[in-house]
Amino acid sequence: MFVAFDDTDSRRGMCTTYLCALLCEKLGVKKYPKLIRLNPNIPFKTRGNGAVAFEAEGDYEEIKKTVLKYVKKYSKVKDEKTNPGVVFIERLGSKEKKILREFYLRAVSELVTIKDAEKTAKKVGAEIHKFKNGRGIIGALAAVGADLPDRTFEFVAYRKRKIGERKIDSRSVYEMDEATYPDTFNNIDYKLKRILILPHGPDPVYCGIRGESPEIVEKAWKNIRPLEEIERTIIFVTNHGTDAHLRKKKIKEIKPYDCAIIDGTVVDEPIRMHGGHVFFSIKDSSGTIGCAAYKQTGDFREAILKLMPGDRIHAFGGISRYPDTLNLEKIKVLRLATLYEKVVPVCCAKNMKSAGKNKGYKCIKCGRKERKTRLREICRSIKLELYEATAGARRHLSKPLIRIKKKRRKQAA
Ligand code: ATP
Repeated sequence: MFVAFDDTDSRRGMCTTYLCALLCEKLGVKKYPKLIRLNPNIPFKTRGNGAVAFEAEGDYEEIKKTVLKYVKKYSKVKDEKTNPGVVFIERLGSKEKKILREFYLRAVSELVTIKDAEKTAKKVGAEIHKFKNGRGIIGALAAVGADLPDRTFEFVAYRKRKIGERKIDSRSVYEMDEATYPDTFNNIDYKLKRILILPHGPDPVYCGIRGESPEIVEKAWKNIRPLEEIERTIIFVTNHGTDAHLRKKKIKEIKPYDCAIIDGTVVDEPIRMHGGHVFFSIKDSSGTIGCAAYKQTGDFREAILKLMPGDRIHAFGGISRYPDTLNLEKIKVLRLATLYEKVVPVCCAKNMKSAGKNKGYKCIKCGRKERKTRLREICRSIKLELYEATAGARRHLSKPLIRIKKKRRKQAA
């Protein structure tokens, strides 16, 4: 049978994945449980909008009893934003799998409602349990539906002490990265000099290591030297780093909270605003939209600042509450506009001076005049390539360039 749940934690503690780890041990789950990230733009999330699902073997009623007991015991229901939802499905035929897959594809990319989830649950014969408003059934159903054509793995270690700073031998993280990157990814942000495998909240997660296979993330963990007691570990199969949330869209189709890839032409020169955020707009045949590369995205902004009106790009990102700005995760530069600059003529070994508006140039030494203005093509310093936010600012779902490049190399071989 399929078991899934979501929305059990709060910013003050717990983690839905920890509850999943406890239940997988208790129920003797054999296959890797799924940790599925959903739309990163939705306002209800605690942290990374993750939900979990697994397949359990045994008596339906017994399993249900155990899961509900654990969810009731561990969920932070006192927190006003915590609304747990639990889903049980005895078996899934191909029709039901398709319905759930479609639901997942919406939940990972758009805003869906609790009503949508209830209707879907009815269609596939899922038993749902809602605590408070039960919004967690959205994530839970989507997690069952996620079929992961591209998938990665995460090794998660949980700590005994559930609060305070995580203690680790930092050198071991660098050694781990050296031994396993790029088969593991997002371990360290070298530009910001930040270790990324350790979260910062008051929750049971000690660290999470992401990679291409269960074997590589397990190997990576063996390199880590924790300086505190580890309670348990688990490996999840996930949609981390797969771009599962992005859909090609026209500007006029975009709704609040959507994730999108827009094929657009740069309208105005990007500008750096107070605070370091960079803004510009793009247009397609249906309209115009603002794009933002926030300060947190690091040197990604340097690439953005090199864009010019007329450049064609794919803009990858998400919309928050207001559908007028796409928060950029990465861009692909598809075509560079040919731009020219005026060349100041030289006479008597010196740059000529302007002779007045529309009057050309004049030599300050010999007085010779030059009416014609010559133009020279500007050499662009941005390439027809993909540019991404620095690792520390990346969404869980964002596919790192290293994964894209690796796939291309594999296909070419
Ligand atoms: P953590 O990652 O620490 O487990 P979280 O960031 O996953 O926490 P939750 O506490 O699970 O956050 O809250 C997210 C809530 O949003 C859940 O109730 C989930 O069902 C719901 N949700 C997920 N995707 C969507 C969506 N596309 N539209 C509307 N609600 C969604």
